[in-house]
Amino acid sequence: MIFKIAFSLSILCFLFATPMTGQELIVSEVSPELIKEFKDCYVLKNTDQTEVEEARKIVSDPPCFRQPFIATLKEYLIISFFPNHYRNLLQECFFNQRVIAGALQMYNSEHRIKLRRINDQMLNATFTPLIPEYLKHPFPRAEKECFYKSIGDATDEGGLFIYCTYHGSVQSIDELENK
Ligand SMILES: [Zn+2]
Repeated sequence: MIFKIAFSLSILCFLFATPMTGQELIVSEVSPELIKEFKDCYVLKNTDQTEVEEARKIVSDPPCFRQPFIATLKEYLIISFFPNHYRNLLQECFFNQRVIAGALQMYNSEHRIKLRRINDQMLNATFTPLIPEYLKHPFPRAEKECFYKSIGDATDEGGLFIYCTYHGSVQSIDELENK
């Protein structure tokens, strides 16, 4: 008898429980501390033209190309004699920028409160909006000089322009002009 009642009750619970919608299942909440710590990345902000100007200068002539002659010679020797040990650092940095952009997109598809931009601080700590769920820690920078910045707003149609202050950007300068 008791089993019968328990069984009927469980059937009733099953029938009257409101099912979760797909949206509710994928949207997770962000902790208020994280929002407070990374407030700059969540709030709406107009594009700062001096920032755009700075980014344009870096992207059109990345500082990584202004290395001392000895570094260029070392690179040349490695390519010539030990091609297996050669690391294309520019390419690694560009790949990292794609990874960051992908993580940001993923984050925004899963959260109600969207990230509008990224900053370098977001890639440093063990617990940030993107780490550990979307990016690993420590984030594998191509070189110690890599410092990531962004222009624009990820929730806008044009998206976000991500660049490294040392290697420039994998995105074209035209994408920056529209910000
Ligand atoms: Zn870089």
